[in-house]
Amino acid sequence: MKTIGMLGGMSWESTTNYYKAINEGVKSALGGLHSARICLYSVDFHEIEQLQHAGKWDELALRLSEAAMSVSAGGADFLIICTNTMHKVVPEIEARVALPILHIADATAQKLQADGISKVGLLGTRFTMEQDFYKQRLINKYAINVITPNTDDQSIVHRIIYEELCLGVIEEASRQQYITIIDKLYRQGAEAIILGCTEISLLIEQHHTAVPLYDTTAIHAESAVKLALDDN
Ligand code: GLU
Repeated sequence: MKTIGMLGGMSWESTTNYYKAINEGVKSALGGLHSARICLYSVDFHEIEQLQHAGKWDELALRLSEAAMSVSAGGADFLIICTNTMHKVVPEIEARVALPILHIADATAQKLQADGISKVGLLGTRFTMEQDFYKQRLINKYAINVITPNTDDQSIVHRIIYEELCLGVIEEASRQQYITIIDKLYRQGAEAIILGCTEISLLIEQHHTAVPLYDTTAIHAESAVKLALDDN
């Protein structure tokens, strides 16, 4: 079994779910007392969030590259970055660290493709919804058409992530707001919704809506388990 390098703590509320899902995946594949080999670097998310909102992406790239070097030195065979947003700095990390990265958008797109979905709605932080690093990967590499909420709805989705979900706060009123936004995207032709922020599944689960949901935390964790158990 390979050792999974995890860059976590962004936020730790979702990293706990990653950790659990990966260990459950290994247990269900191998049985008994088997559990995942993991080297986890967990950041202080306060610092990360401040740098994000100050637009200091070069500094963020440097910090995550250093964290990736640590997990590499700790024996990781490949890396998962446990946040969609911070995949923005994947090219800079790849340029500095010789550790393969299992990209969250690739894992998600492959699942969408396997299910024959060609148009999706994307929910995530404003960085993920607005900028190209995530959407363009889905469009260019997988020919998946991506639609995002309007500007006001993006603000709602973004605010709830940072002011509630990353703090472990789950509010019914916020869930209703997300459901309304999901319904709007569905009416605009989205066949499914990517929960493109690793905390969203703390708020919205499949039983809350009839629109198919693709939870990036669960999908990324499942792909990490597959890769860790792959003999090649
Ligand atoms: N976990 C979130 C994501 O998947 C947001 C927190 C962050 O900015 O890293 O994008």
